[in-house]
Amino acid sequence: MNGTMMQGSLVLPSLLERAGKLFSKVEIVSRLPDKSLHRHTYGDFYRRARQLAEALQRAGLRRGDRVATLMWNHYAHLEAYFGVPASGGVLHTLNLRLHPDDLTYIVQHAEDRFLIVDDVLLPLFEQFKNRVSLERVFVVPLTGAPVPEGYENYEDFLATATGDFRYPDLDENEAAGMCYTSGTTGKPKGVVYSHRSLVLHSLASALVDTLAVSNRDTVLPVVPMFHANAWGVPFTATMVGAKQVFPGPHLDPVSLLDLFEAEGVTLTAGVPTIWLGIVQALEKEPDRWKLQPMRMAVGGSAAPEGLIRAMDRFGLRVVHAWGMTETTPLGTVSQVKATLRDWPEDRQYEIRAKQGLPVPLIEIRIVNDQGEAPWDGKTMGELQVRGPWVAASYYNRPESADSFTEDGWFRTGDVATIDPEGYMKITDRTKDLIKSGGEWISSVDLENALMGHPAVAEAAVFAVPHPKWQERPLAAVVLKAGASATEEELRAYLATKFAKWWLPDGFVFLDEIPRTSAGKFLKSSLRERFKNWVSEREGQGA
Ligand code: ADP
Repeated sequence: MNGTMMQGSLVLPSLLERAGKLFSKVEIVSRLPDKSLHRHTYGDFYRRARQLAEALQRAGLRRGDRVATLMWNHYAHLEAYFGVPASGGVLHTLNLRLHPDDLTYIVQHAEDRFLIVDDVLLPLFEQFKNRVSLERVFVVPLTGAPVPEGYENYEDFLATATGDFRYPDLDENEAAGMCYTSGTTGKPKGVVYSHRSLVLHSLASALVDTLAVSNRDTVLPVVPMFHANAWGVPFTATMVGAKQVFPGPHLDPVSLLDLFEAEGVTLTAGVPTIWLGIVQALEKEPDRWKLQPMRMAVGGSAAPEGLIRAMDRFGLRVVHAWGMTETTPLGTVSQVKATLRDWPEDRQYEIRAKQGLPVPLIEIRIVNDQGEAPWDGKTMGELQVRGPWVAASYYNRPESADSFTEDGWFRTGDVATIDPEGYMKITDRTKDLIKSGGEWISSVDLENALMGHPAVAEAAVFAVPHPKWQERPLAAVVLKAGASATEEELRAYLATKFAKWWLPDGFVFLDEIPRTSAGKFLKSSLRERFKNWVSEREGQGA
């Protein structure tokens, strides 16, 4: 017997309609390149997103055509988030931190037809413009300067809409968005989000035990809108009608703290590097900012326990989450279960530093050479995941079929454990694992511990080749300004927490740790730079 319910389609225009009808007075605030604030409302956003959808259709956009964006986080990017899918097109966000060669590859591979670009990003676009064939390019005049010759003004393009717009009859499985992984290994791979996956992801993200996004929140995504849809935050915030604040290109700690304070931000999201900088700014000038009690979704790399504790001291609550471009991205979130609330404080912090429980409708498992691993919190293996917003394939890339198992799971390339309560903990990425004498050492555990040392600002632990043990860990350490620590002190500090054979063979002190375009530690570059470290040390008779 079937249920007697309607078959409502899960499509993004239903979120846009709700926002436009119910929350037209709610504000959307964007910081512009000159640091001034652009303010408008959901009413304006609704009108303009529909204008964009109509203008695209008038420009001849066909169902499934890709419209690329090369933009910072701001109001016009939000318009594209909804206007492009509402027209039947596919929003393809381009990562402005990639090399022009990679951008060329991605635009060609996705066969993007139109592009919307910030005026301040034209110098980047001009580095690959002649290598791609885009039919039309619309420039958002963020600085107010005239749009250079040869380009169309985005505002003029919106003005071609007459107000007579009707949504196409979208199927929930049609493509709505597209994003390429940043390609830390090999060529970038395209992930295509359906309307259905984005709507379900928004619902799950808003849940109280996930990110608890509500109409009463003021939300500021620091994570770029070109990086896994800013973790879905703009979609979720629009669904619930939360006030939205966008930082534009100004992502330094002081600019962010000023904006958090001025706009009364209650929920934000970003990678740990951003928050490590914020903690340092707050420690330096603890009385400078009056912040609301804030939740900060932290993911992309592991949130060190020291960071979670430091934020708590300022009344800022870290919500640690794990995900990938391939998982839209939310996969797990670490909230302490009600049944564990009477655990000692230290154990609760330990849980919050794990990557967490799978969100509803997502399943996780750990697989190693022995098969599926027990949930014992110890056995490591590859993390595999499945659910309605997990990619089942990459766009036009049959050679990557081995990322998906025969029984329908996605192989994440992360190495993890799951404890008896169901909390998943990432111990490494497969390619960053350190294998010493046949045993695995978790670089993530070591670097998180090091970042708990009072003198250490940042630490990355990585493998160097070793004649006897195959690989040994080496730690790259950045000290806090004005602080000092010796190699012996750091080793002694780690020795209280780890077995002796886990301790790094050496510590190198650097001014900064190289990063990927998403702000993660670029360990491949450290491995390359220090690949002869063991032989050089032995050559010095050490
Ligand atoms: P890439 O880093 O390859 O550009 P993504 O941005 O999709 O791609 O990043 C996904 C990866 O980021 C995950 O596979 C995982 O290794 C890492 N990651 C994400 N969240 C966390 C977290 N909370 N803790 C540790 N690692 C994380």
